[in-house]
Amino acid sequence: MPKPHDVDHVDIVIIGAGFAGIGLSIKLREAGFTDFLVLERAAAIGGVWRDNTYPGCACDVPSHLYSYSFAPNPNWSRMYGKQHEILTYLRRLAADHDVIRHMRFNSELLEARWDDKASHWRLNTASGELTARILVTATGLFTEASIPTLPGLDSFAGRAFHSLHWDHQHELTGERVAVIGTGASAVQFIPEIQPIVKHLTVFQRSAPWIVSRLDRPTLAPERALLRKVPAVQRGLRAAYYGMIESFGLPGFVDRRFRHPFEAFGRLQLLRQVRDPELRRKLTPDYMIGCKRAIFSDSYLPALTQPNVTVETSGIAEIRPRSITTRDGTEHPVDTIIFGTGFTMPPGAVARIFGPAGISLGERYEQRPQSYLGVTTAGFPNVFSILGPFGAVGNQSAIYMIEQQISYIIDALKTIDSFRAQRIEVRPEVQHRFMAEVEERSENTVWLKGGCKSYYTTPDGRNAGLYPNWSFEYRSRVKNFNSSDYVIKAGCNG
Ligand SMILES: Cc1cc2nc3c(=O)[nH]c(=O)nc-3n(C[C@H](O)[C@H](O)[C@H](O)COP(=O)(O)OP(=O)(O)OC[C@H]3O[C@@H](n4cnc5c(N)ncnc54)[C@H](O)[C@@H]3O)c2cc1C
Repeated sequence: MPKPHDVDHVDIVIIGAGFAGIGLSIKLREAGFTDFLVLERAAAIGGVWRDNTYPGCACDVPSHLYSYSFAPNPNWSRMYGKQHEILTYLRRLAADHDVIRHMRFNSELLEARWDDKASHWRLNTASGELTARILVTATGLFTEASIPTLPGLDSFAGRAFHSLHWDHQHELTGERVAVIGTGASAVQFIPEIQPIVKHLTVFQRSAPWIVSRLDRPTLAPERALLRKVPAVQRGLRAAYYGMIESFGLPGFVDRRFRHPFEAFGRLQLLRQVRDPELRRKLTPDYMIGCKRAIFSDSYLPALTQPNVTVETSGIAEIRPRSITTRDGTEHPVDTIIFGTGFTMPPGAVARIFGPAGISLGERYEQRPQSYLGVTTAGFPNVFSILGPFGAVGNQSAIYMIEQQISYIIDALKTIDSFRAQRIEVRPEVQHRFMAEVEERSENTVWLKGGCKSYYTTPDGRNAGLYPNWSFEYRSRVKNFNSSDYVIKAGCNG
């Protein structure tokens, strides 16, 4: 790498221009920080809402809560905004706050290495090299498609794609389509494609808990009221927040609280699926909340249609024009769509190497750890948004992102007030936090609910969920406590 003076230096570099990168940019400007740059690997802003364009793509937390509290939108056209409307919201937000000029597109972070002598980060990106005093990862959790290794997949002669890379040029009308996986994205696109395909075979490994979504278009008078009386919108947001926060009861308070939630799920199944054999297949065999519960009113009815088969016996092999299951049945298929979710942890953290020469990704592989989901011992001057233990089960990710942005801004102000060059969380502080997380996680439904999910590590530990209320988290990150950190004035400090 060239010497520091040969490359550009930026005070703060943020990786990723999704909800988190945009929100942090806005708040940095408001706080008077101007020397910052957002590096985005794609050609535009938007994160998951730019990349996921599959039919039916929408948020599953009501939009009044799945948006920033500092940028309420009274004009959501539905209770749950669709992908394009959320992307438009983000574009408008970035334009209104004039933050696009801080962004560099087509600039994937390839590698970041800590330079201990200079107390800064050396970054190698797709658009060149630069150095930065502070690095913030806003790279999201759901960015890399996970495709299972299935025998014979390479021999498949039809079209195969993942929901993250939806092939809009490919016509599904009249085709025999196989959907592999029944996660949140599949639950959204299956009802959209079922009416047009000739036959749909859904390959299900485990049945998800489906809870009623109660989506509806918003009415013009309703939107007018929200525009005129912002307090009503704040009240609505608070009501949705409370409703969703209640999922913490079975999550980490006591698993017995799951019964009313499961009753709702079972009732929905009973109402929407009349065939007892199909209902049996679609009944989850683990406790609700063990995986993220999915909100939908159209998924189960789509599966009851005559052109749909739900296959649970497991895929044995993929052949050029069919999929065979372990029970020996051969299912003719023209197109395969993977609804198999995302790889965890996402790739970006594997590219950030601390003073010890190991990456954040390697550190997390040994055991996911952090302090408050934002900082990690051994990694100076790095802040993460939605890092391990910085996300809460079913709650709106935007709520958590907003708290973390405020914490990071507070930290940056503190560093500047100390005229410091280097900041790192004290290992004992992180250790105490992790001990608390482990203890609180022990009896959670995520670990004891009888399922396998990305909420847990292969050895059965909590992989990264904050095991407490999000309002409790908020109170913890409200003020940046400088005594939790070693703050130094550069290499000589
Ligand atoms: C289809 C879908 C629906 C969802 N619905 C909900 C919901 O209803 N409620 C909820 O709470 N959460 C939901 N989520 C989770 C969602 O990830 C978060 O809500 C939120 O969008 C996270 O924002 P982010 O900015 O942290 O990450 P992202 O939106 O993932 O943005 C990260 C950005 O970082 C960029 N990036 C990654 N690596 C690099 C690199 N090496 N160099 C440069 N740039 C890089 C990416 O290109 C991307 O633009 C959903 C996710 C998906 C995929």
